[in-house]
Amino acid sequence: MEDAPVAGYEGKRIAVVGAGVVGVTTAVRAQRRLAGAEVTLLSEQLTPHTTGDGSAGLWEPYLLADTPPALVQRWAVETYRHLVSLWRRPEAPELGVSLVPLVCVSQQPPGPPPPWAPHVLGFTALDHHQLGALSAEHGRRYTSGFSMVTLTAEPTRWLPSLLEEFRSRGGKLVHPYSVRDLRLLEGEYDAVVNCAGLGAAKLVKDDDDPVFPIRGQVARVYAPWIKHVFLEEFSGGNYVIPNIDSVVLGGTSQHRDWECDVRPEDSEHVLGGCARLLPALRGAPLLVQWAGLRPARRRVRLEAQRLPGSALKVVHNYGHGGAGITLSWGCAGHAVDLLQQELTACKL
Ligand SMILES: Cc1cc2nc3c(=O)[nH]c(=O)nc-3n(C[C@H](O)[C@H](O)[C@H](O)COP(=O)(O)OP(=O)(O)OC[C@H]3O[C@@H](n4cnc5c(N)ncnc54)[C@H](O)[C@@H]3O)c2cc1C
Repeated sequence: MEDAPVAGYEGKRIAVVGAGVVGVTTAVRAQRRLAGAEVTLLSEQLTPHTTGDGSAGLWEPYLLADTPPALVQRWAVETYRHLVSLWRRPEAPELGVSLVPLVCVSQQPPGPPPPWAPHVLGFTALDHHQLGALSAEHGRRYTSGFSMVTLTAEPTRWLPSLLEEFRSRGGKLVHPYSVRDLRLLEGEYDAVVNCAGLGAAKLVKDDDDPVFPIRGQVARVYAPWIKHVFLEEFSGGNYVIPNIDSVVLGGTSQHRDWECDVRPEDSEHVLGGCARLLPALRGAPLLVQWAGLRPARRRVRLEAQRLPGSALKVVHNYGHGGAGITLSWGCAGHAVDLLQQELTACKL
């Protein structure tokens, strides 16, 4: 959905804290929609050093805990449609957007399809025979699964192009800059959107549902013959996701683990496990290994908040777990809806 510019926000000063995929998409959608607003991005890290940059950028709602399914559907489907529209553009290679077939298997009993299933291309549940054949091939017992056509939006390509748009629309980027307390932004800005990811742990008091890390370790190999995604979605599972110049092999999901160094035992799990899925990967040249921290919560925090004793309008947009790219565009649109409401209420 395109953002139609809305008048009435001329001269409004908006700060977005955090230039990961969530912050950058939020900043650009705020510029597109709130005509004349002055948007500033304040961030400690920039691409290629944000969490999404290490990921494969796969569209697949993952590790979202108790986030309400209706919201996941709203945000994820809007992002899916946007990525399809980017994939159709002549500049899709520069944006890093690819359309890819996906097979996902699990060890859960078969259940109803997820609510987003009717909105993606070709969602089909795997049948008993397919699960049996894959189980025999991979030496694991799969009990349910599906296939679909999905997208990858590689943040190392997508984020620079979004930042270029941000600058060309007059956005100001302040980097490296660490916000110690949101209240300190009062006076300089009318509103702030908190897109600090895991950094929100220090920035906001959020005792009911604090953000915490889910560590993920992956490897990138050179294997240009691999053109499809395969996911084992259960504890101890592996995954294979092709990107444009490499293939991402995963992975781990270690809760409350802050270690960003690569661990040999995880490398063994990733490389050995993916070769179990696809023996041809055994000889694929290893390009790089990386460990990153997913910013997780019980549920994504996307809401407005009035700070006691402060006139600053705050919108939170963080805690996207293993699906920050998958939800990014939809969450950015929702965050801008909330910004509009907050700034309009303040005018009234
Ligand atoms: C191994 C791995 C694989 C993944 N694969 C996928 C995938 O395929 N698809 C998918 O959708 N998701 C995936 N994810 C999850 C995804 O990467 C994250 O959900 C997403 O990157 C979070 O984006 P973010 O912008 O909220 O956080 P971040 O990218 O962490 O950005 C936060 C930003 O805030 C800044 N910041 C923090 N605190 C402050 C402060 N106090 N002041 C100023 N700036 C601050 C940081 O410097 C940074 O720029 C993966 C994650 C991992 C670790």
